[in-house]
Amino acid sequence: MKTLQDFNFKNKKALIRVDFNVPLDENFKVTDATRIEAAKPTIDKILADGGSVILMSHLGRPKGKEDKYSLKHIVKKASELLGKEVKFAEDCRGEVAKSAAENLKPGEILLLENLRFYTEEEAGDVDFAKELASLGDIYVNDAFGTAHRAHASTTIIAQFFPNEKCFGILLAKEIESLDKVLRNSQKPVTAVLGGSKVSSKITVIENILDKVDHMIIGGGMTFTFVKAQGGKIGDSICEDDKQELALEILRLAKEKNVQIHIPVDVVAANAFSNDAETQIVDVTKIPDGWQGLDAGPKSLENFKKVILESKTILWNGPLGVFEMEKFANGTIELGNFIAEATEKGAFSLVGGGDSVSAVKQFGLEDKMSYVSTGGGAMLEMLEGKTLPGIAAILD
Ligand code: AMP
Repeated sequence: MKTLQDFNFKNKKALIRVDFNVPLDENFKVTDATRIEAAKPTIDKILADGGSVILMSHLGRPKGKEDKYSLKHIVKKASELLGKEVKFAEDCRGEVAKSAAENLKPGEILLLENLRFYTEEEAGDVDFAKELASLGDIYVNDAFGTAHRAHASTTIIAQFFPNEKCFGILLAKEIESLDKVLRNSQKPVTAVLGGSKVSSKITVIENILDKVDHMIIGGGMTFTFVKAQGGKIGDSICEDDKQELALEILRLAKEKNVQIHIPVDVVAANAFSNDAETQIVDVTKIPDGWQGLDAGPKSLENFKKVILESKTILWNGPLGVFEMEKFANGTIELGNFIAEATEKGAFSLVGGGDSVSAVKQFGLEDKMSYVSTGGGAMLEMLEGKTLPGIAAILD
């Protein structure tokens, strides 16, 4: 695996695919700059070597050249965070990009306009990729958030750098973290899978059954498992057509010696609302008119024991409807247990969507060993897929 450390960038132009797809408010101010900050270590290393940096990214889903999706809106913030003026090329191809890149001196940073102003980007167009490639000497992919897409700048471009290509620090860290969980893990390994649906997590569950000792299944998925085993789930969310699959997972887990932990009690509500009445009930005895929206206290006690005994923890998906205060407790408590285990030396990886927002919302980010930056990309890696953006660098 080639990383930044394998290159000296002195007098080289590094062409970096970053993920600067940051949220902007109605005045085009960056409201969350995490993704820009995340690219800083890579940029710093290249500049420190005496190289220059050309940044490529997309922003949003523009239909052609739309001013509101221009990356010019983030230039000020990027300059501030990177501690250096970021120059801006008002196009990512053609004369504008070419001359801006040619005039770039060691120590300087150039940001190209939104790649998705051209449909060729998402189409993975080879000529477009070649044009981008001509701007730099070494290609660096540091955009984990788009590594699962075979776009021109994330994948196709790599073929024009047979040897001069590598992972950036952020992307390398994502790969290493997942490796620590699924391949070179310290046992016992526990995966916590929450979220709403079995159907969206089934491939993940199947792929990691071989790699874990414990699996905690929570969130809305709980009820498909409980109903399949004959429990009464009231009005809780359930995928009836996935009941067979749930039983098959339980059977497979037994065969593979994986202990499955499902909530035994839940916070049930008489409506899907933060104003609903609630009661704690046995997960197999939820009255009609009530739905389980969070894990109950006994379940959390059980989960705590498992988590605190684990040396490696993967967390994907909330334990309840954490967006509503009344049903956030299970997710917060779980986060606290993982934080405690991490403090005691366990390795914890949070990734793949909503659990990342939960961890951020509840201020637990710094207490996890690693919080992934790519929702869809992490989910696909957990499903066991080889991401095209990663494969293109390894090629
Ligand atoms: P996912 O995108 O599959 O990770 O699902 C995350 C969503 O699952 C969050 O928006 C949660 O509100 C939702 N969720 C978690 N637990 C439940 C539940 N018991 N009933 C309904 N939705 C839930």
